[in-house]
Amino acid sequence: MSILIIAQQAKGPLAVSTAQLVGAAKALQGDIHLLLLGDQITQAATEAARLQGVTRVRLAELGCNWCDGLDKPLAALAQDYHYVLMAASSTAKDLLPRMAARLGMEMLSEVIAIEGKDSFLRPIYAGNAIARVQSSAPIKLMTLRASSFPTAVMGEVSAPVEALPSLTIATRTRLVSRQAVVSSRPELGSARVVVSGGRALGSKAQFALIEALADKLGGAVGASRAAVDAGFVGNDLQVGQTGKVVAPELYIAVGISGAIQHLAGMKESKVIVAINKDGEAPIFQIADYGLVGDLFTLLPELTAKL
Ligand code: FAD
Repeated sequence: MSILIIAQQAKGPLAVSTAQLVGAAKALQGDIHLLLLGDQITQAATEAARLQGVTRVRLAELGCNWCDGLDKPLAALAQDYHYVLMAASSTAKDLLPRMAARLGMEMLSEVIAIEGKDSFLRPIYAGNAIARVQSSAPIKLMTLRASSFPTAVMGEVSAPVEALPSLTIATRTRLVSRQAVVSSRPELGSARVVVSGGRALGSKAQFALIEALADKLGGAVGASRAAVDAGFVGNDLQVGQTGKVVAPELYIAVGISGAIQHLAGMKESKVIVAINKDGEAPIFQIADYGLVGDLFTLLPELTAKL
């Protein structure tokens, strides 16, 4: 069995989601090749080569982080593999179906567990049910929710790293500029701890209470759609059906009622803590720990005690 993990990588350390994908791929018990795509990715390549389970790292410097038209050369590359894995992201949603179509294969999206070589679990109906899907496709192309899988650790031995000959990309798009949010906090999709705030925070200024707690715990900040719509934070922090799907070790929901669309994005979290002044709020039905009270009293107290 041979497995190709395709990972988008920016300059700097290896993305946590890539190590989680390697953790997932181990369940398939095959040769794991990691293809890193991006610009200035030498540091990431060195780290990737040390991930336990990886037998080869392949590099493609793109000169831009992502290019339209990659599906053709990558589909050609994928023909040598039994599995092609990517972390579920908007890029993967764009790329993998095109590759699957070129190869004449089906593709599986948002896989959360690998049960065997051809049996996988994925959520359906906004996470209200889990479907077991089987695929007999000779090349299985899948997006995986990276945070559902254990993170592969780095060992002492390094796998070989090879640069791919430059990819021929027929593209009709051109990168004009990039505007990235620079944050010292971990990335929401792969953070171990997420602290999310809802409408109850009341304003952008008061949302700083959420940020203070997140920083204390070394976590990422998330938000409900109501908080995003009210302009407290940008929509890249929205958690839920129409936002990001997260499954951290610890998810703290503050002033969030627990609407089904929010739960769809966080209910796979390992430990859920809810802070809400309404003891009947639906979020308490899925919370492992609940604190009933006013967040404006409880949050500063909690942050100070931590
Ligand atoms: P509210 O529902 O207004 O809840 C606020 C909570 O704060 C209440 O429970 C209240 O008791 C509590 N509270 C108030 N004051 C305090 C206080 N001082 N201290 C402590 N607690 C307090 N929502 C998402 O989050 N993500 C999505 O991706 C998403 N996608 C959607 C897609 C569709 C198609 C639709 C129709 C809706 C979607 N929504 C989504 C919206 C969702 O239905 C809810 O409206 C939203 O999640 C509510 O946000 P909230 O919990 O912050 O606000």
